[in-house]
Amino acid sequence: MNADRLTVVVAAFNEAEALPALHLRIASVLDGLVGEGIEGHVLYVDDGSRDRTWAVLDDIATADPRVSLLRLSRNFGKEAALTAGLDLVREGAAIILDADGQDPPELIPQFVAKWREGYDDIHGTRTVRDGEGWFKRATAHGFYRVMQRLSKTPIPTDTGDFRLLSPRSLAALRELRERHRFMKGLFGWVGFRQVAIPYHREARVAGRSKFNAWRLWNFALEGVTSFSTAPLRVATYLGVLTAVLAFVYASWVVIKAMLWGDPVAGWPTMMTVILLLGGVQLMALGVIGEYLGRLYEESKQRPLYLVDRWRPAAGVSSGDIAPEGDLRHAYRPSAVGSEEPRDPRDPS
Ligand code: UDP
Ligand code: MG
Repeated sequence: MNADRLTVVVAAFNEAEALPALHLRIASVLDGLVGEGIEGHVLYVDDGSRDRTWAVLDDIATADPRVSLLRLSRNFGKEAALTAGLDLVREGAAIILDADGQDPPELIPQFVAKWREGYDDIHGTRTVRDGEGWFKRATAHGFYRVMQRLSKTPIPTDTGDFRLLSPRSLAALRELRERHRFMKGLFGWVGFRQVAIPYHREARVAGRSKFNAWRLWNFALEGVTSFSTAPLRVATYLGVLTAVLAFVYASWVVIKAMLWGDPVAGWPTMMTVILLLGGVQLMALGVIGEYLGRLYEESKQRPLYLVDRWRPAAGVSSGDIAPEGDLRHAYRPSAVGSEEPRDPRDPS
């Protein structure tokens, strides 16, 4: 029997401090899986890091023949980096890990066991989150619940990107080429047989989180607008509600004038109504704008990412990759006769 192929995909942005330790952990887990008929590979995607990440990865790849490297032309964000990585996994299953050690590689054998049972999307669900403040935990908790109410696509709660995807899930995911990528929603949309593995999310081993409050807010907006049109409907209901109230109030004004005459006052009421209506209208316009802006971005049909460098591991072919020709501009060390260009960002 041929070994099943499993590729660990790791997106890394400024993770030079965390990667060496993480790779040791991944490597020992993959060593342990050889006996179970798993051919392990690792694919690191450097999401335009500005620290020594690429140099560190280069050393890792030199020492370990299972490692492939991809570097994007700039920082495209985690979702694009993961997309780039998953696009390259053309054979076998893929498992997604965070570069900071928050998703323990030691759980990989459990994921693999579920894959062998026939599941397609095995995701880690956090039971405990260490090293994250109450604010992040509370907002994350609220966000997953709101998303579930708003979206018709089932999105599992408290589940990040830590998951194993079967070959058919990967193939399905590759068909979703939208520019605004809310990955958790995309995984949910694909469906197939899903199962959760509860785990204890540890604190980062090194470095700092790249997601501050503002980035998380934008991430939440992305999630809502990509997977729900409920906010657009809110505008309609607000409009209906205001119209009903306005009708009741107008009737009252008319009746009052007929019964007792009208001494013309009411500047405060007028101002209140004007301000309220103005505010509601601007809000509704803003909501429409959010969707319109995203439509505009989609309509440009730009590639989701550009590849700066591609360093395939031994045994990984580069002929069968790039769904959108995204590797066209990539520099490949394996190409014969080309001198490696000097990288101004590379300190070495
Ligand atoms: N990441 C990335 N590109 C970015 C931001 C983050 O590839 O623009 C990676 C990062 O290196 C890490 C993962 O995404 O592997 C999760 O990031 P982080 O740990 O900062 O997020 P948190 O765990 O705090 O939500
Ligand atoms: Mg993290």
